[in-house]
Amino acid sequence: MTVRDKRVMWCHAHALTGKPRVGAWRTTRSPRCLAADGFEIVKVQREHPASGSPQVVIELTPGPAVARRCGRCGAGTVEVHDTTVRRIRELPILDAETWLLVPLARVRCPACGPSTEALPWLERYARMTKRFAESVARLAQVLPITEVADHFRLKLGHGQGD
Ligand SMILES: [Zn+2]
Repeated sequence: MTVRDKRVMWCHAHALTGKPRVGAWRTTRSPRCLAADGFEIVKVQREHPASGSPQVVIELTPGPAVARRCGRCGAGTVEVHDTTVRRIRELPILDAETWLLVPLARVRCPACGPSTEALPWLERYARMTKRFAESVARLAQVLPITEVADHFRLKLGHGQGD
């Protein structure tokens, strides 16, 4: 079995809740699962760039009545100033490189001042979900980093973690 065969698939509904559905793919949307993590799906778009691999872009919107937390101390009593959309790499869906468009709130915390909201599935400043980062790290334990990068179509070198 090749590494590619072992890829774990995620359905839309479970992409943000951490429940893998190995080899299975649901085309129906189940925003309720996402709402548990504070977001709902607005749009799912599959793109085929002329050069390069297919991409799936999932646009999210904050669910109703979501409590925002300070990204520094975790306090829940913060004011939301505005939101900024961050493009975040998620585990691949079938053959497609997958990205989330996540509207992150800029909050003002009484203790820390301005910061970006904390999300349980995203490290501060991260450009990839925790699941994606863990997946890369797991493969890197058994494969050379260049192969891992190739598998996930990651660019090595500068530009990482900015
Ligand atoms: Zn704080």
